[in-house]
Amino acid sequence: MPLARITDPDSPALAKLCEELASRAGADSLGDWPAESLALCGEAGVFEWFLSEEWGGQGWSEADTVRGYLALSQACLTTTFIITQRTGACRRIAGSQNESLKERLLPPLATGQTLATVGISHLTTSHRHFRKPVLRAIPDGGDFVLDGFSPWVTSNDRADWIVIGATIMAGEEPTDQQILAVVPTDAPGLSAEKPANLVGLSSSRTGKVELNHVPVTQDGLIAGPVENVMMTGRTSRSGGHETSTLALGLAAAAIEFLAGEAIQRQDLKPIHTALAAELADVVGDVLIIASGEAVCTNESLRQRANSLVLRATQASMAAAKGAGYVVGHPVERWCREALFFLVWSCPQPVMNANLCELAGITD
Ligand SMILES: Cc1cc2nc3c(=O)[nH]c(=O)nc-3n(C[C@H](O)[C@H](O)[C@H](O)COP(=O)(O)OP(=O)(O)OC[C@H]3O[C@@H](n4cnc5c(N)ncnc54)[C@H](O)[C@@H]3O)c2cc1C
Repeated sequence: MPLARITDPDSPALAKLCEELASRAGADSLGDWPAESLALCGEAGVFEWFLSEEWGGQGWSEADTVRGYLALSQACLTTTFIITQRTGACRRIAGSQNESLKERLLPPLATGQTLATVGISHLTTSHRHFRKPVLRAIPDGGDFVLDGFSPWVTSNDRADWIVIGATIMAGEEPTDQQILAVVPTDAPGLSAEKPANLVGLSSSRTGKVELNHVPVTQDGLIAGPVENVMMTGRTSRSGGHETSTLALGLAAAAIEFLAGEAIQRQDLKPIHTALAAELADVVGDVLIIASGEAVCTNESLRQRANSLVLRATQASMAAAKGAGYVVGHPVERWCREALFFLVWSCPQPVMNANLCELAGITD
Protein backbone atom coordinates (compact mmCIF):
# COMPACT_ATOMS: atom_id res chain seq x y z
CA MET A 1 0.00 0.00 0.00
CA PRO A 2 1.46 3.43 -0.92
CA LEU A 3 2.50 5.62 2.02
CA ALA A 4 0.44 8.69 2.80
CA ARG A 5 2.12 12.10 2.53
CA ILE A 6 3.33 13.33 5.93
CA THR A 7 2.34 16.93 6.52
CA ASP A 8 3.05 17.28 10.25
CA PRO A 9 5.04 15.38 12.89
CA ASP A 10 1.87 14.11 14.63
CA SER A 11 0.68 12.37 11.47
CA PRO A 12 0.07 8.59 11.86
CA ALA A 13 1.75 8.33 8.43
CA LEU A 14 5.06 9.28 10.11
CA ALA A 15 4.73 6.36 12.53
CA LYS A 16 3.98 4.06 9.56
CA LEU A 17 7.00 5.32 7.62
CA CYS A 18 9.21 4.83 10.71
CA GLU A 19 8.03 1.22 11.03
CA GLU A 20 9.07 0.64 7.42
CA LEU A 21 12.46 2.31 7.95
CA ALA A 22 13.16 0.39 11.18
CA SER A 23 12.42 -2.92 9.47
CA ARG A 24 15.12 -2.12 6.87
CA ALA A 25 17.66 -0.48 9.21
CA GLY A 26 19.79 -3.57 9.81
CA ALA A 27 21.49 -3.49 6.42
CA ASP A 28 24.38 -1.15 7.16
CA SER A 29 27.27 -2.80 5.40
CA LEU A 30 29.06 -1.15 2.51
CA GLY A 31 27.07 -1.37 -0.67
CA ASP A 32 23.69 -1.55 0.98
CA TRP A 33 22.65 1.93 -0.12
CA PRO A 34 19.23 2.40 1.52
CA ALA A 35 17.49 2.98 -1.81
CA GLU A 36 14.15 1.58 -0.66
CA SER A 37 14.13 3.58 2.58
CA LEU A 38 14.99 6.78 0.73
CA ALA A 39 12.33 6.06 -1.89
CA LEU A 40 9.76 5.58 0.90
CA CYS A 41 10.82 8.91 2.41
CA GLY A 42 10.38 10.55 -0.99
CA GLU A 43 6.94 8.95 -1.41
CA ALA A 44 5.89 10.23 2.03
CA GLY A 45 7.04 13.77 1.17
CA VAL A 46 9.89 13.88 3.73
CA PHE A 47 12.19 15.87 1.42
CA GLU A 48 9.51 18.58 1.22
CA TRP A 49 9.65 19.28 4.97
CA PHE A 50 12.86 21.24 4.70
CA LEU A 51 12.08 23.52 1.75
CA SER A 52 9.64 26.42 1.44
CA GLU A 53 6.45 26.17 -0.61
CA GLU A 54 8.01 28.40 -3.24
CA TRP A 55 10.30 25.50 -4.17
CA GLY A 56 7.75 22.72 -3.86
CA GLY A 57 8.35 22.12 -0.16
CA GLN A 58 6.11 22.17 2.90
CA GLY A 59 8.28 24.62 4.87
CA TRP A 60 8.06 22.91 8.28
CA SER A 61 9.00 24.99 11.32
CA GLU A 62 12.35 24.22 12.99
CA ALA A 63 10.54 22.64 15.97
CA ASP A 64 8.44 20.35 13.73
CA THR A 65 11.56 19.46 11.77
CA VAL A 66 13.27 18.43 15.03
CA ARG A 67 10.30 16.20 15.88
CA GLY A 68 10.38 14.68 12.40
CA TYR A 69 14.12 14.04 12.59
CA LEU A 70 13.79 12.50 16.08
CA ALA A 71 11.27 9.97 14.78
CA LEU A 72 13.26 9.14 11.64
CA SER A 73 16.61 8.77 13.40
CA GLN A 74 15.10 6.53 16.05
CA ALA A 75 13.97 4.27 13.19
CA CYS A 76 17.05 4.36 10.92
CA LEU A 77 20.05 6.56 11.61
CA THR A 78 21.74 5.95 8.26
CA THR A 79 18.76 6.99 6.15
CA THR A 80 18.19 10.03 8.35
CA PHE A 81 21.85 11.00 8.20
CA ILE A 82 21.80 10.89 4.37
CA ILE A 83 18.71 13.12 4.52
CA THR A 84 20.49 15.67 6.74
CA GLN A 85 23.35 15.95 4.24
CA ARG A 86 20.85 16.33 1.40
CA THR A 87 18.93 18.91 3.42
CA GLY A 88 22.13 20.77 4.29
CA ALA A 89 22.84 21.11 0.57
CA CYS A 90 19.26 22.16 -0.25
CA ARG A 91 19.23 24.79 2.49
CA ARG A 92 22.54 26.25 1.38
CA ILE A 93 21.20 26.54 -2.17
CA ALA A 94 17.88 28.00 -0.95
CA GLY A 95 19.76 30.55 1.21
CA SER A 96 21.79 31.88 -1.73
CA GLN A 97 21.10 34.98 -3.80
CA ASN A 98 21.54 32.95 -7.00
CA GLU A 99 17.92 32.87 -8.23
CA SER A 100 18.54 30.89 -11.43
CA LEU A 101 20.42 28.22 -9.45
CA LYS A 102 17.51 27.88 -7.04
CA GLU A 103 14.98 27.65 -9.87
CA ARG A 104 17.03 25.00 -11.64
CA LEU A 105 17.97 22.78 -8.70
CA LEU A 106 15.41 23.05 -5.89
CA PRO A 107 12.13 21.73 -7.41
CA PRO A 108 13.59 18.33 -8.44
CA LEU A 109 15.37 18.14 -5.06
CA ALA A 110 12.07 18.70 -3.22
CA THR A 111 10.43 15.77 -5.02
CA GLY A 112 13.40 13.45 -4.62
CA GLN A 113 14.05 13.25 -8.37
CA THR A 114 17.63 14.34 -7.71
CA LEU A 115 20.02 13.97 -4.77
CA ALA A 116 22.42 16.56 -3.38
CA THR A 117 25.03 16.36 -0.64
CA VAL A 118 27.70 18.49 1.03
CA GLY A 119 31.50 18.52 0.93
CA ILE A 120 32.31 21.25 3.42
CA SER A 121 34.10 19.65 6.37
CA HIS A 122 37.52 20.80 5.14
CA LEU A 123 36.34 24.36 5.90
CA THR A 124 35.10 23.47 9.39
CA THR A 125 36.22 20.30 11.15
CA SER A 126 38.50 18.23 8.87
CA HIS A 127 42.09 18.67 7.64
CA ARG A 128 42.25 22.06 9.36
CA HIS A 129 45.81 21.55 10.63
CA PHE A 130 47.40 21.70 7.16
CA ARG A 131 48.81 25.03 5.95
CA LYS A 132 47.84 24.35 2.35
CA PRO A 133 44.05 24.02 2.02
CA VAL A 134 43.04 20.61 0.70
CA LEU A 135 40.54 22.14 -1.71
CA ARG A 136 41.63 25.26 -3.54
CA ALA A 137 39.69 27.67 -5.76
CA ILE A 138 41.93 29.21 -8.39
CA PRO A 139 40.55 32.43 -9.91
CA ASP A 140 40.02 32.08 -13.65
CA GLY A 141 38.73 35.30 -15.21
CA GLY A 142 35.51 35.97 -13.28
CA ASP A 143 35.15 32.25 -12.56
CA PHE A 144 37.13 29.59 -10.64
CA VAL A 145 38.63 26.16 -11.02
CA LEU A 146 38.69 23.74 -8.09
CA ASP A 147 41.75 21.65 -7.33
CA GLY A 148 42.32 19.16 -4.52
CA PHE A 149 39.82 17.05 -2.62
CA SER A 150 36.95 17.07 -0.20
CA PRO A 151 37.76 14.37 2.39
CA TRP A 152 34.27 13.34 3.45
CA VAL A 153 31.24 13.38 1.19
CA THR A 154 28.19 11.28 2.06
CA SER A 155 26.47 9.59 -0.94
CA ASN A 156 29.66 10.47 -2.83
CA ASP A 157 28.91 8.02 -5.65
CA ARG A 158 25.11 8.46 -5.58
CA ALA A 159 24.53 12.21 -5.48
CA ASP A 160 23.80 14.33 -8.53
CA TRP A 161 25.08 17.54 -6.95
CA ILE A 162 27.68 18.44 -4.32
CA VAL A 163 27.60 21.70 -2.42
CA ILE A 164 31.28 22.26 -1.91
CA GLY A 165 33.49 24.87 -0.24
CA ALA A 166 36.98 25.95 -1.27
CA THR A 167 39.68 28.46 -0.30
CA ILE A 168 40.64 31.10 -2.84
CA MET A 169 44.32 31.04 -3.75
CA ALA A 170 46.59 33.93 -4.72
CA GLY A 171 49.27 32.06 -6.65
CA GLU A 172 50.65 29.41 -4.27
CA GLU A 173 49.34 31.16 -1.15
CA PRO A 174 45.90 30.68 0.44
CA THR A 175 43.87 33.84 1.03
CA ASP A 176 41.25 34.33 3.79
CA GLN A 177 38.52 34.27 1.10
CA GLN A 178 36.36 31.21 0.43
CA ILE A 179 33.60 30.22 -1.96
CA LEU A 180 30.66 27.85 -1.70
CA ALA A 181 29.46 26.38 -4.99
CA VAL A 182 27.39 23.57 -6.46
CA VAL A 183 29.14 21.14 -8.76
CA PRO A 184 27.47 18.34 -10.71
CA THR A 185 28.99 14.96 -9.91
CA ASP A 186 29.48 14.28 -13.63
CA ALA A 187 31.65 17.42 -14.02
CA PRO A 188 34.86 16.77 -15.95
CA GLY A 189 37.73 16.29 -13.46
CA LEU A 190 35.49 15.23 -10.55
CA SER A 191 35.79 11.67 -9.25
CA ALA A 192 34.33 9.92 -6.23
CA GLU A 193 36.69 7.56 -4.41
CA LYS A 194 35.35 4.18 -3.33
CA PRO A 195 33.32 4.90 -0.18
CA ALA A 196 35.04 4.05 3.09
CA ASN A 197 34.23 0.93 5.09
CA LEU A 198 33.18 2.50 8.38
CA VAL A 199 32.50 1.37 11.96
CA GLY A 200 28.85 2.27 11.34
CA LEU A 201 26.73 3.98 8.67
CA SER A 202 28.77 2.39 5.85
CA SER A 203 25.70 2.28 3.65
CA SER A 204 25.68 6.09 3.63
CA ARG A 205 28.46 5.63 1.05
CA THR A 206 30.70 8.30 2.48
CA GLY A 207 34.09 8.91 0.91
CA LYS A 208 36.54 11.32 -0.62
CA VAL A 209 35.83 13.33 -3.76
CA GLU A 210 38.80 14.37 -5.91
CA LEU A 211 38.61 17.54 -7.98
CA ASN A 212 41.11 18.05 -10.72
CA HIS A 213 40.64 21.41 -12.41
CA VAL A 214 36.84 21.37 -12.03
CA PRO A 215 35.31 24.59 -13.40
CA VAL A 216 32.93 26.69 -11.29
CA THR A 217 31.17 29.45 -13.15
CA GLN A 218 29.02 32.22 -11.67
CA ASP A 219 25.83 30.19 -12.28
CA GLY A 220 27.07 27.51 -9.85
CA LEU A 221 28.15 29.93 -7.14
CA ILE A 222 26.18 29.91 -3.86
CA ALA A 223 28.25 32.41 -1.88
CA GLY A 224 31.59 34.23 -1.85
CA PRO A 225 34.30 35.05 -2.32
CA VAL A 226 34.05 35.99 1.34
CA GLU A 227 35.71 35.20 4.68
CA ASN A 228 34.07 32.34 6.61
CA VAL A 229 31.71 31.42 3.81
CA MET A 230 29.99 28.83 6.02
CA MET A 231 28.67 31.63 8.21
CA THR A 232 26.75 33.16 5.30
CA GLY A 233 23.25 32.32 4.10
CA ARG A 234 21.81 30.11 6.80
CA THR A 235 21.89 30.16 10.56
CA SER A 236 22.36 26.49 11.46
CA ARG A 237 26.10 25.81 11.62
CA SER A 238 28.38 22.85 12.03
CA GLY A 239 27.51 21.28 15.38
CA GLY A 240 24.03 22.90 15.29
CA HIS A 241 20.92 21.28 16.71
CA GLU A 242 20.38 18.82 13.80
CA THR A 243 23.40 16.75 14.79
CA SER A 244 22.22 16.72 18.43
CA THR A 245 18.72 15.74 17.29
CA LEU A 246 19.99 12.67 15.47
CA ALA A 247 22.03 11.66 18.53
CA LEU A 248 18.88 11.94 20.64
CA GLY A 249 16.87 9.88 18.13
CA LEU A 250 19.42 7.07 18.40
CA ALA A 251 19.46 7.40 22.22
CA ALA A 252 15.65 7.08 22.13
CA ALA A 253 15.91 3.77 20.23
CA ALA A 254 18.24 2.37 22.90
CA ILE A 255 16.11 3.70 25.76
CA GLU A 256 12.97 2.20 24.24
CA PHE A 257 14.76 -1.15 24.08
CA LEU A 258 15.56 -0.78 27.80
CA ALA A 259 11.89 -0.04 28.47
CA GLY A 260 10.93 -3.34 26.83
CA GLU A 261 13.51 -5.28 28.85
CA ALA A 262 12.52 -3.51 32.09
CA ILE A 263 8.97 -4.94 31.86
CA GLN A 264 10.37 -8.35 32.95
CA ARG A 265 13.45 -7.18 34.86
CA GLN A 266 13.01 -5.06 37.99
CA ASP A 267 16.70 -4.15 38.17
CA LEU A 268 16.47 -2.31 34.84
CA LYS A 269 13.56 -0.08 35.86
CA PRO A 270 15.60 2.68 37.61
CA ILE A 271 18.15 2.61 34.77
CA HIS A 272 15.43 3.11 32.21
CA THR A 273 13.69 5.78 34.31
CA ALA A 274 16.90 7.82 34.73
CA LEU A 275 17.88 7.67 31.05
CA ALA A 276 14.33 8.39 29.85
CA ALA A 277 14.14 11.45 32.14
CA GLU A 278 17.47 12.73 30.85
CA LEU A 279 16.31 12.19 27.26
CA ALA A 280 13.09 14.11 27.90
CA ASP A 281 15.12 16.93 29.41
CA VAL A 282 17.55 17.27 26.48
CA VAL A 283 14.79 16.82 23.87
CA GLY A 284 12.85 19.58 25.65
CA ASP A 285 15.86 21.89 25.29
CA VAL A 286 16.34 21.08 21.58
CA LEU A 287 12.70 21.93 20.97
CA ILE A 288 13.06 25.22 22.85
CA ILE A 289 16.21 26.09 20.88
CA ALA A 290 14.46 25.11 17.64
CA SER A 291 11.62 27.48 18.44
CA GLY A 292 14.14 30.31 18.69
CA GLU A 293 14.86 30.63 22.42
CA ALA A 294 18.49 30.38 23.54
CA VAL A 295 17.98 28.09 26.53
CA CYS A 296 21.57 26.82 26.15
CA THR A 297 24.23 26.96 23.47
CA ASN A 298 24.24 24.49 20.58
CA GLU A 299 27.62 23.34 21.87
CA SER A 300 26.40 22.42 25.35
CA LEU A 301 23.36 20.75 23.79
CA ARG A 302 25.59 18.70 21.51
CA GLN A 303 27.82 17.72 24.42
CA ARG A 304 24.82 16.49 26.43
CA ALA A 305 23.37 14.65 23.40
CA ASN A 306 26.73 12.98 22.70
CA SER A 307 27.13 11.92 26.31
CA LEU A 308 23.59 10.55 26.48
CA VAL A 309 23.74 8.59 23.22
CA LEU A 310 27.00 6.89 24.24
CA ARG A 311 25.70 5.96 27.70
CA ALA A 312 22.21 4.94 26.54
CA THR A 313 23.45 2.66 23.77
CA GLN A 314 26.00 1.04 26.10
CA ALA A 315 23.33 0.58 28.77
CA SER A 316 21.21 -1.18 26.15
CA MET A 317 24.20 -3.46 25.41
CA ALA A 318 24.63 -4.28 29.10
CA ALA A 319 20.92 -5.08 29.29
CA ALA A 320 20.96 -7.17 26.10
CA LYS A 321 24.05 -9.04 27.40
CA GLY A 322 25.81 -11.48 25.05
CA ALA A 323 22.79 -11.62 22.75
CA GLY A 324 23.29 -7.91 22.02
CA TYR A 325 26.94 -8.51 21.18
CA VAL A 326 26.09 -10.81 18.28
CA VAL A 327 26.40 -9.06 14.91
CA GLY A 328 22.94 -8.33 13.57
CA HIS A 329 21.35 -7.50 16.94
CA PRO A 330 20.12 -3.87 16.83
CA VAL A 331 21.97 -3.06 20.06
CA GLU A 332 25.42 -3.77 18.59
CA ARG A 333 24.57 -1.52 15.62
CA TRP A 334 23.36 1.27 17.90
CA CYS A 335 26.62 1.09 19.91
CA ARG A 336 28.66 1.40 16.71
CA GLU A 337 26.45 4.18 15.40
CA ALA A 338 26.73 6.14 18.66
CA LEU A 339 30.50 6.47 18.12
CA PHE A 340 29.73 8.46 14.99
CA PHE A 341 28.65 11.42 17.13
CA LEU A 342 32.17 11.70 18.54
CA VAL A 343 33.45 12.51 15.05
CA TRP A 344 30.62 13.90 12.93
CA SER A 345 30.75 17.65 12.53
CA CYS A 346 32.12 17.89 16.06
CA PRO A 347 33.41 21.36 16.95
CA GLN A 348 36.57 21.54 19.09
CA PRO A 349 34.83 22.68 22.33
CA VAL A 350 32.37 19.74 22.11
CA MET A 351 35.22 17.34 21.44
CA ASN A 352 37.16 18.78 24.41
CA ALA A 353 34.12 18.37 26.68
CA ASN A 354 33.60 14.77 25.50
CA LEU A 355 37.29 14.00 26.07
CA CYS A 356 37.17 15.51 29.59
CA GLU A 357 34.12 13.39 30.41
CA LEU A 358 35.86 10.26 29.10
CA ALA A 359 39.00 11.12 31.09
CA GLY A 360 36.94 11.75 34.22
CA ILE A 361 38.05 15.41 34.39
CA THR A 362 35.17 17.27 36.01
CA ASP A 363 36.31 20.80 37.08
C1 LIG B 1 30.44 8.78 8.31
C2 LIG B 1 30.86 10.20 8.10
C3 LIG B 1 30.14 10.96 7.20
C4 LIG B 1 30.51 12.29 6.96
N1 LIG B 1 29.81 12.99 6.02
C5 LIG B 1 30.22 14.23 5.71
C6 LIG B 1 29.58 14.94 4.63
O1 LIG B 1 28.65 14.46 3.97
N2 LIG B 1 30.03 16.18 4.34
C7 LIG B 1 31.05 16.77 5.00
O2 LIG B 1 31.39 17.90 4.68
N3 LIG B 1 31.68 16.11 6.02
C8 LIG B 1 31.28 14.87 6.39
N4 LIG B 1 31.96 14.18 7.39
C9 LIG B 1 33.12 14.83 8.07
C10 LIG B 1 32.94 15.07 9.57
O3 LIG B 1 31.91 16.01 9.78
C11 LIG B 1 34.26 15.56 10.20
O4 LIG B 1 34.75 16.67 9.55
C12 LIG B 1 35.32 14.47 10.20
O5 LIG B 1 34.82 13.36 10.89
C13 LIG B 1 36.62 14.97 10.83
O6 LIG B 1 37.54 13.88 10.86
P1 LIG B 1 38.97 13.94 10.16
O7 LIG B 1 39.62 12.63 10.39
O8 LIG B 1 38.85 14.38 8.75
O9 LIG B 1 39.67 15.12 11.05
P2 LIG B 1 41.12 15.69 10.98
O10 LIG B 1 41.13 16.89 11.87
O11 LIG B 1 41.58 15.89 9.59
O12 LIG B 1 41.97 14.56 11.68
C14 LIG B 1 42.60 13.47 10.95
C15 LIG B 1 43.87 13.07 11.64
O13 LIG B 1 44.76 14.17 11.63
C16 LIG B 1 45.50 14.26 12.85
N5 LIG B 1 45.26 15.58 13.47
C17 LIG B 1 44.06 16.15 13.75
N6 LIG B 1 44.22 17.37 14.29
C18 LIG B 1 45.55 17.58 14.34
C19 LIG B 1 46.35 18.66 14.78
N7 LIG B 1 45.82 19.77 15.28
N8 LIG B 1 47.68 18.57 14.67
C20 LIG B 1 48.25 17.44 14.16
N9 LIG B 1 47.54 16.37 13.72
C21 LIG B 1 46.22 16.45 13.82
C22 LIG B 1 45.01 13.10 13.72
O14 LIG B 1 45.95 12.05 13.60
C23 LIG B 1 43.70 12.70 13.10
O15 LIG B 1 43.43 11.33 13.22
C24 LIG B 1 31.61 12.85 7.66
C25 LIG B 1 32.33 12.08 8.59
C26 LIG B 1 31.98 10.75 8.79
C27 LIG B 1 32.81 9.93 9.75
